[in-house]
Amino acid sequence: MIRFKSVNKYYGDFHVLKDINLVINKGEVVVVIGPSGSGKSTMLRCINRLETISDGELTVNGVKVNDKNTNINELRRNIGMVFQHFNLYPHKTVLENITLAPTMVLKQSKEEAEKIAMYYLEKVGIPDKANSYPSQLSGGQQQRVAIARGLAMKPEIMLFDEPTSALDPEMIGEVLDVMKALAKEGMTMVVVTHEMGFAKEVADRIIFMDQGRILEEGKPADFYANPKEERARVFLSRIL
Ligand code: ADP
Ligand code: MG
Repeated sequence: MIRFKSVNKYYGDFHVLKDINLVINKGEVVVVIGPSGSGKSTMLRCINRLETISDGELTVNGVKVNDKNTNINELRRNIGMVFQHFNLYPHKTVLENITLAPTMVLKQSKEEAEKIAMYYLEKVGIPDKANSYPSQLSGGQQQRVAIARGLAMKPEIMLFDEPTSALDPEMIGEVLDVMKALAKEGMTMVVVTHEMGFAKEVADRIIFMDQGRILEEGKPADFYANPKEERARVFLSRIL
């Protein structure tokens, strides 16, 4: 579903992604870990073309992400993204936040979009917050709205960039639970997170990045118990 083939990316002279080769299959849950600055967010953002690649090939469902004939809106419609800072519109209610793209982009009627929004709000456990504003919600609730907003576009792929790292500890679990449920339903997910419990429970693969490279990949149980690369070992000893 997602394929990086010898992908490189530069920010000016800075070589941020170095020869990335990665295939992510439909229904797979891939967790990406690695030190700050190793290129995790950049790699994720290339998938929905929030960043462009410098060379190599990146395809989503066989479509070249960076080809000038590729319809970016169509590509992005199919890829939901959840960020560390929820990025909700502060002056719109929860319901308005979720229905905005489905009405504008998918041309759903307001009634239809609201029905779908309520379905996903139920799913993330906060249907009672439909008419609240983001500032009236806890961080964990806001992040669950952001997830519902992504799901309302019915994407085939969900990208998560450190979705729990801005949350107070007591709210991390509620967001991870929503993500676990999604993973178990077969959603294709790429998740940048250092939450080992989540990774062990639902990830099919862990990718360890360091200085722009994929240094190691493996099954969670193997990787956490016995990382092969010295730098992965050092990194794990620091976060665990
Ligand atoms: P990570 O998510 O692993 O912390 P990032 O992908 O955010 O890493 O960043 C990788 C490196 O690229 C960092 O050194 C960062 O400073 C640099 N970088 C990120 N975005 C830009 C940008 N827009 N312009 C220049 N350098 C950037
Ligand atoms: Mg990052």
